[in-house]
Amino acid sequence: METSPERYVETFMAQLIARNPNEPEFHQAVREVAESLAPHIAASPVLQRMKILERIAEPERVVIFRVPWLNDRGEIEVNRGYRVQMNSAIGPYKGGIRFHASVNLSILKFLAFEQTFKNSLTTLPMGGGKGGSDFNPKGRSDNEVMKFCQSFMTELQRHIGQDTDVPAGDIGVGGREIGYLFGQYKRLRNEFTGTLTGKGRDWGGSPLRPEATGYGVCYFAEEMLAARGDKLAGKTVCISGSGNVAQYACEKATQLGAKVVTLSDSSGFVHDPEGIDAAKLEYVMELKNVFRGRIKEYADRYPQATYHPGERPWNVPCDVAMPCATQNELDGDNAQALVDHGCMCVVEGANMPSTPEAIRIFQQHKLLYAPGKAANAGGVATSGLEMCQNSMRLTWTPEEVDAKLHGIMRNIHAVCVQYGTQPDGYVNYVVGANIGGFMKVANAMLAQGCV
Ligand code: GLU
Repeated sequence: METSPERYVETFMAQLIARNPNEPEFHQAVREVAESLAPHIAASPVLQRMKILERIAEPERVVIFRVPWLNDRGEIEVNRGYRVQMNSAIGPYKGGIRFHASVNLSILKFLAFEQTFKNSLTTLPMGGGKGGSDFNPKGRSDNEVMKFCQSFMTELQRHIGQDTDVPAGDIGVGGREIGYLFGQYKRLRNEFTGTLTGKGRDWGGSPLRPEATGYGVCYFAEEMLAARGDKLAGKTVCISGSGNVAQYACEKATQLGAKVVTLSDSSGFVHDPEGIDAAKLEYVMELKNVFRGRIKEYADRYPQATYHPGERPWNVPCDVAMPCATQNELDGDNAQALVDHGCMCVVEGANMPSTPEAIRIFQQHKLLYAPGKAANAGGVATSGLEMCQNSMRLTWTPEEVDAKLHGIMRNIHAVCVQYGTQPDGYVNYVVGANIGGFMKVANAMLAQGCV
């Protein structure tokens, strides 16, 4: 390489930004990976000549479509649907579907890009993809959600398939939505295949898929702490979010002996200094999953807890932070507050929840810090296990799936340590995950030629 790794990153990013204007989340995700890989690419003429990074940052295909549907008042509503098919070098496109008012191309491209590396880290044969819609399911009836899902799938079905692209859930898409999406897929295609993951247990879903992301985050945290001779037991944990990932991170952290003191939603957070134990978590699960209520209600139910409207939980003193809500939910000031209060470990359950400034602060202070693409990979890994069971037309026991999930998280941790250990012994998990995830995809792309 003629220029320094720093110059390479700047030139590469300038071109990427010019080609993809107004996509700040996508730029952020790509920059982080480019910075990690630059020294590696600088040392490899073949990666440069074959334009591997340039190709990885260009989706193989993007589908954008109209989603018209009838609401309960009989009116037509129009949303926009997307599927970003990012990379199929190591397997069919694989990644979730997000329904949220904020969904746009930038967010889905960042998620699909991250997914490519995350899926590679799982060691399972899955490429990277992501999809979704700006449809906001909040306040919608079951009937409206079903109507929307059916219209969304009516178009999406022609672009996916068990050997092509296998969607799953993400923010705003859980068991209910996967059911409606799968029903419509099956009806239109006249086939019962494992084209979606996160299905119900009685109709092709894997045991432990709902639990997998949150459990995996805790297994990863245990590995990080063990490397410093420590463990989760006895730790105070702050969790953001109160959806699927947050709920099962809370459950597993508590089972492992930690005390979880916060949960949040987009309106604020609750702080329960006595800990959110199994019984209280059961209440939260019913509140969020059945009644689709707000986390504020937790503080009405448990008076020792306080509700903090419009705030995030990062000012609450803790040993371990698990951001499990959404991208860029933890900024530089939040990171500094965590450091000041003695936090030692940050494990991301969400995708890219920490801003670049927050990551700099964690790493400057030598915190154990794991990016989402490593720490939250347990979800998609278990989706990969669901695909495997569907192909075999068999179901494993929860114990079997848990053992495989645990093994995968341990292995991802080992890969991060292998590629991310710095000369002073500090493990840079960002570099470790980016290089570890990249290698397999890059080698596959080199083998498959200019496609
Ligand atoms: N949406 C999840 C993720 O960010 C899961 C994707 C999947 O299971 O395919 O990894």
